[in-house]
Amino acid sequence: MDNKLITVTSPLLPNLDDFIPLLKDIWDRKWLTNNGHYHRELEKALADYLGVEYLSLFTNGTLPLITALQAMRITGEVITTPYSFVATTHSIWWNGLKPVFVDVEESTGNIDPEKIEAAITPHTTAIMPVHVYGTPCNMKRIQEIADIYGLKIIYDAAHAFGVKVNGESILNAGDMSTLSFHATKVYNTIEGGALVCHDAATKKRIDYLKNFGFAGETTVVAPGINSKMDEIRSAYGLLNLKQVDSAIANRKAIAEKYRAALKDVAGIRLLKDIEGVRHNYAYFPIFIDEKKYGMSRDALYAKLQEHNIYGRRYFYPLISTFSAYKGLESANPANLPVAHKLADQVLCLPMFADLDEEGVSRVLDVIANRK
Ligand SMILES: *Cc1c(COP(=O)(O)O)cnc(C)c1O
Repeated sequence: MDNKLITVTSPLLPNLDDFIPLLKDIWDRKWLTNNGHYHRELEKALADYLGVEYLSLFTNGTLPLITALQAMRITGEVITTPYSFVATTHSIWWNGLKPVFVDVEESTGNIDPEKIEAAITPHTTAIMPVHVYGTPCNMKRIQEIADIYGLKIIYDAAHAFGVKVNGESILNAGDMSTLSFHATKVYNTIEGGALVCHDAATKKRIDYLKNFGFAGETTVVAPGINSKMDEIRSAYGLLNLKQVDSAIANRKAIAEKYRAALKDVAGIRLLKDIEGVRHNYAYFPIFIDEKKYGMSRDALYAKLQEHNIYGRRYFYPLISTFSAYKGLESANPANLPVAHKLADQVLCLPMFADLDEEGVSRVLDVIANRK
């Protein structure tokens, strides 16, 4: 049996021969960072592709979260989800703010809007939801609540590159949205990210903040940070943008194969495509009911590894269980029953643009045969 390693993800790489001339051009220009030619090109190209007006490029996907909170001077408490990558909550902590965890919807894994109001206190100033696995949050309901209570909304859209609802980018929802272009994501610049806002003045402030607060050669308007994307990764990002649509199409075909084979397996729940949504197939999570499937999630996770297949338990453990946060009142498992259930059941199957037919079959064989 072919036992080639299959990882949960594999990076989308531009053609090396296409990259060399761009590197040569960067060498000729001798301008390596600080809003250079390729940085500006990529900002424009990303805004066009994603269907947003104001986008600032960042050096990773965590600093836009931290900077969004700074840009709007968020204070006190921020309502968020425990069912995410740790960076979401860490960004709140790095601003000296208190994260308040709210439980999630079982159907999507996204924050449950109906549980937000109960978590609001006089100190609440913002909501930080996550479009988990790229599935859009209930943005309309979240906006209604934010409007009533005067709260800002920052979407962690790290999983939601290119996701649209009825042709409209979900990055236009809320006050700001953040993206990650980490190597493991649908679209990557090796490390990278972006912050999307909705007006020119705010973009200007964000651009000051990502460059130490410099508003001119001798003017510093805020205690900013250094979060600038360099020219080499910007040029790489321009090349990867050209092939991201075909990468998403390949992911979709893989998702369809997984779904066709798994839809009738007892004890395995899948996420469904939502009508009107352009999904990006960033992840392929399955949720395992141990009793009905006849094997626990962790046993299947280990069984796959015996076959040299590495799924990932995104998102287990929940952020609310880590030492920095578990003492918070909102981190009490009794407050987060659905999130705990999902974290205990989830397994993300290998999903990347060049996962081949044979790889998909190997994954499916292990799941179908439970051995
Ligand atoms: C990947 C990710 C981030 C962080 O992005 P980096 O680019 O790795 O800093 C933030 N939030 C979520 C939900 C992520 O998956």
